[in-house]
Amino acid sequence: MPDPAVPLVIPREAHPISRRNISPAALKVLYGLRDAGYQSFLVGGAVRDLLAGRQPKDFDVATNATPEQVREVFRNCRLIGRRFRLAHVVFGREIIEVATFRANDDDGSGGRAAEDDGRLLRDNVYGTIEEDAVRRDFTANALYYAIEDFSVRDYVGGFEDVMARRLRLIGNPETRYREDPVRMLRAVRLAAKLGFSIDPGSSAPIPAMAPLIAGAAPARLFDESLKLFLAGHAEASFLGLEAHALLPVLLPETAEALRTNRSGSLRTMVLEGLRNTDQRIAEDRPVTPAFLYAVLLWPAYCRELARLQAQGLDPVAAQQRAADRVTLHQAQRIALPRRFSLPMQEIWMLQPRFSLRQKKRVFRTLAHPRFRAAFDFLELRARVAPELGADLQFWREAQLQGPAAVTAGAVHAEAAGGAAWPEPAPPDVEATEAGEETGPARRRRRRPRRRRSGGAGGDDAS
Ligand code: ATP
Ligand code: MG
Repeated sequence: MPDPAVPLVIPREAHPISRRNISPAALKVLYGLRDAGYQSFLVGGAVRDLLAGRQPKDFDVATNATPEQVREVFRNCRLIGRRFRLAHVVFGREIIEVATFRANDDDGSGGRAAEDDGRLLRDNVYGTIEEDAVRRDFTANALYYAIEDFSVRDYVGGFEDVMARRLRLIGNPETRYREDPVRMLRAVRLAAKLGFSIDPGSSAPIPAMAPLIAGAAPARLFDESLKLFLAGHAEASFLGLEAHALLPVLLPETAEALRTNRSGSLRTMVLEGLRNTDQRIAEDRPVTPAFLYAVLLWPAYCRELARLQAQGLDPVAAQQRAADRVTLHQAQRIALPRRFSLPMQEIWMLQPRFSLRQKKRVFRTLAHPRFRAAFDFLELRARVAPELGADLQFWREAQLQGPAAVTAGAVHAEAAGGAAWPEPAPPDVEATEAGEETGPARRRRRRPRRRRSGGAGGDDAS
């Protein structure tokens, strides 16, 4: 690595960053600080993305002005954060985050404030631009675009790495992962997003150090999971997590279910689901964490469901218990909020109802608030379980053609024996090891009817 005290200066004519691709708001902040006599740089992911030929999703600025000084320059500025203060300069819906150069070592000895296990505790002292560069994670994320001469300043060899489309940790990889294990996920995520490779020195320690991620805050891991899977590169992220042995620590029960699923159909289904998510994002269609997690945890759910049914639990009770257990266990690692885990469970619970085609049940299922998501999920399952094709066709017509066709279709389906319930474990379940031991379907216990049945949104079967 180059000496951090002597930056490599890449002049304007030697790099492709143009002010045309920087948001006008960010330019205002950069020029405003410069005109007030401060240093100001575009920094981090924005510089990396611009060099890689991508449009950044947000623009961060670094400066030697303190947050209070930044506020004196911009009226539309508010200070946030208690431990480390940041300035947000607000332009309508766009916010430019301005951070004062920051160092990690705060005891004056040159050592960093670290716990015994190597995790960083404090990250909160102002510093020089050199110090600000080396505290960052990857060299590609530590480049500074100077508004004063439009050059790029490189203290850690990041320019060469971006040009080679390579992610490399600054400093000793093991030390940096120990300080903050989430950097392992960031490596996989940024590689997936940018199509970069991970430098062998930075990827080699990951499998052995992956278990450290269990010590990260579950709320942070939830945020990170959305960046992995709801940013348009979910399939690549998943493959990266698998390749670096990170799946078992992030989604332990799903990883175990995939490992024991001999046919591989569960993995195929998950990959289909993630590809579908990427496609929707590419088309600007909505995606939800509830559906995403329904896909990601389906293997875990199928495995648990098969296990409970093999123990003799009746199908309906087994479904709810399997859903609850999987949700509970996963929550120890990733804090999936209830507003997402409840609809996720509903998507699962609706699956067996797609084989119920008596007229009244059809109406209820169609009226369920989660019908559309559950139907999309059925479509996904059918891609790896062709035997679901008839169900899929029936419900597709039921939606398109309305009540009359539903009735006709239902009669037809029942005549053809299509209304088969009791429902054994879903076909995908039978593909798991436990499922392979599952006996014949048990008769479903009749549940007492609710009084207010038959109305829209009536939901007595789940
Ligand atoms: P994205 O395009 O997903 O926003 P990003 O690189 O901008 O990617 P952010 O989380 O927005 O990621 O972080 C902004 C910058 O802060 C990074 O470019 C990096 O320099 C630094 N950074 C973020 N997370 C860490 C970390 N865990 N350790 C060290 N530096 C980090
Ligand atoms: Mg960013």
